[in-house]
Parts: sequence; structure tokens; C-alpha cells
Amino acid sequence: MTAVDWQAVGSRVQGPTDLLIDGQWCEAIDGQRMDVVSPIDGAVVASIALGSGVDIDRAVLAARRAFADGRWSHLAPAKRKQVLIAWADLIVAHAPELAYLQTLEMGKPAHESLAIDLRSVGNTVRWFGEAIDKVVDEIPHVDPGALALVTREPAGVVGAIVPWNFPLTMAAWKLAPALATGCSVVLKPAEQSPLSALLLARLAIEAGIPDGVLNVVNGLGTVAGAALSEHPDVDVLTFTGSTAVGGRIMQASGATNLKRVWLELGGKSANIIFPDADIDRAARTAAWSIFFNQGEMCTAGSRLLVHESIYDEVIDRVMAVAATMQPCNPFADQAPMGALVSASHLDRVDSMVRQAVSEGTALVVGGSPAEVEPGGSYYPPTVFDRVDPSATIAQREVFGPVLAVTAFTSDDEAVRIANSTEYGLGSAVWTNDLSRAHRVSRALKVGLCWVNCYEEGDMTMPFGGVKKSGFGRDKSLHALEKFWDMKSTWIQLD
Ligand code: NAP
Ligand code: MG
Repeated sequence: MTAVDWQAVGSRVQGPTDLLIDGQWCEAIDGQRMDVVSPIDGAVVASIALGSGVDIDRAVLAARRAFADGRWSHLAPAKRKQVLIAWADLIVAHAPELAYLQTLEMGKPAHESLAIDLRSVGNTVRWFGEAIDKVVDEIPHVDPGALALVTREPAGVVGAIVPWNFPLTMAAWKLAPALATGCSVVLKPAEQSPLSALLLARLAIEAGIPDGVLNVVNGLGTVAGAALSEHPDVDVLTFTGSTAVGGRIMQASGATNLKRVWLELGGKSANIIFPDADIDRAARTAAWSIFFNQGEMCTAGSRLLVHESIYDEVIDRVMAVAATMQPCNPFADQAPMGALVSASHLDRVDSMVRQAVSEGTALVVGGSPAEVEPGGSYYPPTVFDRVDPSATIAQREVFGPVLAVTAFTSDDEAVRIANSTEYGLGSAVWTNDLSRAHRVSRALKVGLCWVNCYEEGDMTMPFGGVKKSGFGRDKSLHALEKFWDMKSTWIQLD
């Protein structure tokens, strides 16, 4: 692919900065706005309308009205499909602008924004559009004197709260299946990544999503996010973010209308490398799995468990990859790593690293902020060696490019260490022994397991975790189940 002229894209992109409520772009009721600060250099790049509880009320009301009058919920699935596919086409056509805004606001390499995130966003919307007119309901075999129907009906108004690390992909994973089923949605993007979400929504309106069916209310999590999760007229709340906030959302549901809650939360995923693996590929991929996206990835391979007999060899290769993945300005050609999302997140990552050092954990590379652009938030690949599996750095999610490497000597020990955190999201098993691959992958308490690869998969594969990584599943036909209510109708014929 030829390099994109990001400066040219930046000079032509004109995304919305207001709230989207009932098909209209509008200010927040109280007129508040918030600056959007780019972590690339600390510059203020936009000002957006900042919604509060009253704006969430307006958006939920619009979503409810749209749902109730059937302008979208009563359309034939094939009609909704046409609109979703038109939206996917617009996403593809505007992929450079979307990628530009996403990189500007959250700092990931622009070429990856385009090649990875935007491809996934377009595919997600197209896939659920293509799928929705192919799913059917059930007529169980029952007593001949009756007709039994098991039907699925759109649940109603969906609140979607998403994080900033894959802002557009996470939004698409929620919006595409929710809209495909016929629900109306109120999206609350992360405060760090409002601009790409607003442009994505504008394209949805252009594609023909009717007024009120998709609403976007930017605002603070503790204000707009909390209002959405407490709202008595929201039927389903789908969330990706931290475990702490996920817990608050469940409490809000319990204290209000028992809205159905779906949580995709944090992780502390382990790559486990056995001596019979392709060591070079395993080590390089494991390094990539923690340094990719600046380590700001729920499935980041933040723990590396290596058999004692190959430990030094693996560490050497991980260090070689770390040396090639130094942070750069994310708009630089083929930047291997960009900026962390914000100055405050940089401080958080750095303080966790300093805490690990103070606890006596051996730091072998990285470990302090990098100078890339004045005012920017950059952190280099950082590796801790021979980490005690119970150490804080091996237990707590850092959400930065920080790897904890631990040695093991038996399969059982590897499984025990891998399962020893409160999380259960991703994992990888590196071995050429088929039986071991099956045995170990089965023993891991996780939602996702990769064998001899990392982060692979396609839209057919459900995505999500267990334990404190949550319980929702995005992607695949199973994602539709989050947004449907099931109705059992028994018709007595005689
Ligand atoms: P976060 O602080 O939990 O924020 C996520 C979203 O929740 C944001 O939109 C945030 O708004 C909102 N929020 C914050 N407080 C809230 C409250 N009291 N009520 C309702 N909403 C609230 O997480 P983050 O720092 O943005 O993202 C990083 C976390 O997400 C990591 O733990 C990561 O593992 C997880 N994650 C999980 C997955 C997955 O699929 N499992 C994928 C990606 C990320 P503000 O931005 O305004 O605070
Ligand atoms: Mg946040």
C-alpha cells in the first residue's frame, strides 16, 4: 500500500463536534463544551459538546420514540440490511478520515488505524448487515393440538458505552448487531475519543439510519455514562471498558430497572511458550502481542510464561522486537508504536512500572517515558524479567507496553500460573505437540485461546471473557442474542 498523505487527509476532514440526538446535531442543553487534546503533542485539536444527564434523557426519549413507532424496528430485516451495507460502503469510502481522527485523538499509528481498525469496522457493519436477513426463529415440535413459536424481538433501547483504545472497532461491535436486530441506540464514546465516533455516526445518518435510531452523546463517564447506565428506560446496556466501571454499571442496573448488562472488561492475558514450539515465531509474536497498540489492548499478552529450558533464548528475541518497536509520531510512515492515550494515562503506566521496580522486580528494558514530540505521551516497550507470578505487575492490568516474563518448569505449573489472576480474557499456547495444545487450551479459564498465533480470528468467532474480564460476547451471531428478547408463544389449536 502506498503511504497515505495524512497531512492532506487532516486538512480535508471536517467531522461533527456536536451531540447527535433525534437525527439533529445539537449543543448540550447546558451549553458545555470540552477540549479534545491530542496525545501526539498535547495540542487542543477540537472542542466538542459535552452532554450531561439531561442530554442522555433527550437521547433516550428520541431512541424510545423511534423504537416504538417502528421506523426501524418494524422494517423487514432485508431493508435494515440495505442500510447497514450502505453504511459499510461509506465507512470504506471515508476510512482515511476516520483513521485520521482516531489517531489524532488517541495516538495509535495511523497506518494501523487504517489497515486494522477501519478494515474491521467496515467488515463488522457489513457482516451483521449481511447476516440479519438469514437468521430464523423456531417452531418446536409440540403436541399437534398446539402451535408453539419461539420468536426473537428487538429488545428496545440500547445504551452503548465504549473505551478509547479501539474506539471505532468497539463502537462497531456494539452498534452493528444492535441496529441489525432493530434496536435503537444511544452511544456514549470515551471522553478521549469523541471525534471518530461522531464521524462514524454522521456516515450512518447519510446511509439512511432513521432519525432517533442512532444517537451519540459525548460526555464524562461519571456524568453521561452514569446517567445512561441508571436510566429507567434503557433496556440493554452494552459496555467495554475497565472492570471497576463494569461493576458500577451492574450496580446501577440493579438499583434501577434491571436493564440487561453486557460487560467486556480488562485482562491480563498469558502467552505460554513450551520448548517444542517454533521458538522464534512464538517469541516474536508474544512481543508483538504486548507492544502492539502501545499495549492498550484488553487482550494484550501482558504476561509471558516461558519454559525454563528456553527462557534465555526467548528473552533475547523479545528484546530484539522491543528494540524495533520504539514509539514514534503516529503519523510517521509505518510508525511501529504511537502515543499513549493521554498524559494522565502515561503517568498511570509509569507509576505502575516504578512500583514494580520498588518492589524489587528486575527491569531489563524501557521503564521511563520516551521523548518523541514535546508535549506528547510516549512510553517505550518495557520488560520485567523473572517476575514472581504473584507480583502486582503480574496481576494488575497496566494497559501499556509493559511485559512481565515468568519461567515455568511443567505444564501444570504453566496452567496454574496462567489461571492465577482475577481475569480470564485472552491466552495463547505455543507448542507443536497436538495433545499438549488441546490439554492446555482446555485447562485455561479464559474466553479466548489462540494456539500458535495471537489475536487471530474472524467475525464468526465470539469475543469476550470470563471471571473479572466480564461475560458479554461481541462479534459472531451470538452477539445478536444480546439485543433480542426471546418470546415463547403457545397457541392452543383445539
Ligand atoms: P473505562 O475508564 O472503564 O471507560 C470506558 C467507558 O466507560 C468510557 O466511555 C468511560 O467514559 C465510561 N465510564 C467511566 N466511568 C463510568 C461510570 N461511572 N458509569 C458509566 N460509564 C463510565 O475504561 P478505559 O480506560 O476507557 O478503557 C480501558 C479499559 O477497557 C481496560 O481495562 C481494558 O481492558 C478495557 N477494554 C476491554 C475490552 C474487551 O473487549 N474486553 C476491549 C477494550 C478495552 P469516560 O471516557 O468519560 O471516562
Ligand atoms: Mg476513562
